[in-house]
Amino acid sequence: QYILGIETSCDETAVAIVKNGTELIANVVASQIESHKRFGGVVPEIASRHHVEQVTLVLEEALEQADMNMEEIDAIAVTEGPGLVGALLVGVNAAKALAFAYQKPLVGVQHIAGHIYANRLMKEFQFPLLSLVVSGGHTELILMKEHGSFEVIGETRDDAAGEAYDKVARTLKLPYPGGPHIDRLAHEGEVTIDFPRAWLENDSFDFSFSGLKSSVINTLHNAKQKGIELKQEDIAASFQESVVDVLSTKAYKAAKQYGVKQVIVAGGVAANKGLRARLEEKFGSDQELELLIPPLHLCTDNAAMIAAAGTVAFNQGHRAGWDLNGNPSLSLERYAKRSVTK
Ligand code: ATP
Ligand code: MG
Ligand code: FE
Repeated sequence: QYILGIETSCDETAVAIVKNGTELIANVVASQIESHKRFGGVVPEIASRHHVEQVTLVLEEALEQADMNMEEIDAIAVTEGPGLVGALLVGVNAAKALAFAYQKPLVGVQHIAGHIYANRLMKEFQFPLLSLVVSGGHTELILMKEHGSFEVIGETRDDAAGEAYDKVARTLKLPYPGGPHIDRLAHEGEVTIDFPRAWLENDSFDFSFSGLKSSVINTLHNAKQKGIELKQEDIAASFQESVVDVLSTKAYKAAKQYGVKQVIVAGGVAANKGLRARLEEKFGSDQELELLIPPLHLCTDNAAMIAAAGTVAFNQGHRAGWDLNGNPSLSLERYAKRSVTK
């Protein structure tokens, strides 16, 4: 069973082919980062235009990589949301055109379900499992009791982890996206500042990063006023320590409370070396828990994850009609509750 995935929710044009939901056959990602860098963030109109220019080329390259033709594909899975509406529409329309031209079933996929399913390209899921989703727009703890079921047990009340990374990076005048730059600097610095950690209520698995972000900005501002030189590396290390401490502590507590068998990490911030090391340290010694973290190229946006999640939706009987639309605010829970339309 071969599923072709298409992802265009933000600033990566991606097409991939996955066999049986677990085996990566082709994976092509055209990143637009260079075009958005000088604006310090993603410009929606530029993103849409690039997707239009790239999507056919990326598709051809994926088929070439797999040494396959469209006739051999069983279904087409596409990100329907969340994301930038104009960007989503390019992928959705490309998927519809392909499904129509080659008479293939069409499946809509929620982007975060995709990030989670990137892990299944490494290893089969064991339920119940807990997923720590840490991306540019989301920070959530998701409980999965079976394939296609997603229960949000904690989420950010303000900024997402990736967003906090990018905003702090911008304050430090680092290029966009800032996450990888802070990560690199953090390893060259020392934790010299005790930045706040938002633990919130005792029984809450929610997150909050805006206080931390403000604290970094205020610290930099105050130091500047007093003429004190703070090392960028130390700010990065101290900020990262605060983020990693909260993420890993809450994930571990939730894993224990819900008695899960696996903990899987998903989203762009899963590429963070500090987070990966801390999670491995925390979960590594626990015989009852298995930790899965995707390789770096499957952490940030790609279409392999969409094909992997799309395979599950397809086999559960989900089909999208010709009215499939981009939905910029499609939640994981609404996606999980959608009805099967065979
Ligand atoms: P969402 O998936 O929530 O819709 P998105 O698709 O924009 O948002 P991703 O592509 O999953 O987000 O991840 C991008 C984010 O990951 C950016 O905020 C980026 O700074 C962050 N990121 C990437 N690598 C690292 C790293 N090594 N350390 C920290 N953050 C990182
Ligand atoms: Mg991106
Ligand atoms: Fe993403």
